[in-house]
Amino acid sequence: MNAKTLLITGGAGFIGSALIRHLIKTTDYQVINIDKLTYAGNLASLAQVVDHQRYHFIQADIADATRMQQLFADYRPAAILHLAAESHVDRSIDGPAAFVQTNLIGTYTLLEAARSYWTTLRGSEQRQFRFQHISTDEVFGTLGEHGLFSEASPYQPNSPYSATKAGSDHLVRAWHHTYGLPVLVTNCSNNYGPYQFPEKLIPLMILNGLAGKSLPVYGDGQHIRDWLYVEDHVRALQLILEQGRPGETYNIGGQNERTNLEVVNQICSTLDSLQPTTSGRTYRELIQFVTDRPGHDVRYAIDASKIRRELGWQPREDFDSGLQKTVQWYLDNHDWCKQIQNGHYQQQRLGLQELG
Ligand code: NAD
Repeated sequence: MNAKTLLITGGAGFIGSALIRHLIKTTDYQVINIDKLTYAGNLASLAQVVDHQRYHFIQADIADATRMQQLFADYRPAAILHLAAESHVDRSIDGPAAFVQTNLIGTYTLLEAARSYWTTLRGSEQRQFRFQHISTDEVFGTLGEHGLFSEASPYQPNSPYSATKAGSDHLVRAWHHTYGLPVLVTNCSNNYGPYQFPEKLIPLMILNGLAGKSLPVYGDGQHIRDWLYVEDHVRALQLILEQGRPGETYNIGGQNERTNLEVVNQICSTLDSLQPTTSGRTYRELIQFVTDRPGHDVRYAIDASKIRRELGWQPREDFDSGLQKTVQWYLDNHDWCKQIQNGHYQQQRLGLQELG
């Protein structure tokens, strides 16, 4: 086993790329990024690390059992951090099949590949290996006005996305209890920050606002989410990898509950101050309330006291400064956004496929 080698799935996505940038910058791990490059995968998010000798990219589907077994055999990693997923709730409503395929079959395939590699390890190497599964608070369903999701909350997923993530959490748990695989599960609240694909709430509103397009808010905008800056999430993931107890679940959240309308209003006032419209109108005038998403969960909020108490983690970024930084990042990174808007980031993917 190579004690400093990590496999990371989904490393070309929003959180995976933040995790890889963080690990390459602050640790001496060798990072192997396994990503299929779906529409959500963007290698431009890894431009800072692409030439680093400790970073390697492999284009592969996590549901490809032969490839996954081969990658474990080739790299002999100390751990795998599994982030690859279909992750957008609206897409899961329109086309759940890809969610079942990647989130359930893909996770099962990785668990089996990890297990057969892990059984070849001996002694302390076998004890030290980790399968870390990155999941969401959406598996717990919806909260009323009060209460928080803890690690003991019952699973009550309501969307095809959250149902497939819940199923994947259960598979990971079962591979620990049945086969002894040393797993870690993390359930995190909504992330935001640089490099997030513009179909998600915060970047969608920033980019629509800058383009003078409407800002669509579901229902009455009173749904509540608990927001966490992505760099706080990836620091938590590293801490759990290095110090978490196998077989345990850790909730991660920022104690930043906001209604969707509050978030959109705050984006509008940040844009008003950083880049006022040329028409003299305010960004808020672009807000449009649209028909609610079916099965839309009312409120998510995380009790993160376990990771705070056991591992000493706490978020560094409060929502106001994190949102300001995020809006500024989208203003400063037109090229990254433009490549997504005109589809050029996918041509880069096609180029890779031709090569490989
Ligand atoms: P994302 O959609 O930005 O990225 C997903 C990545 O996985 C993409 O690079 C995509 O190409 C890759 N991928 C998809 N299917 C694949 C397959 N079959 N094989 C290999 N790669 C594949 O997602 P994200 O927002 O970065 O989320 C990462 C993980 O964190 C997901 O598991 C998600 O459920 C979880 N999570 C996300 C949030 C959030 O707010 N974004 C919150 C909590 C947990």
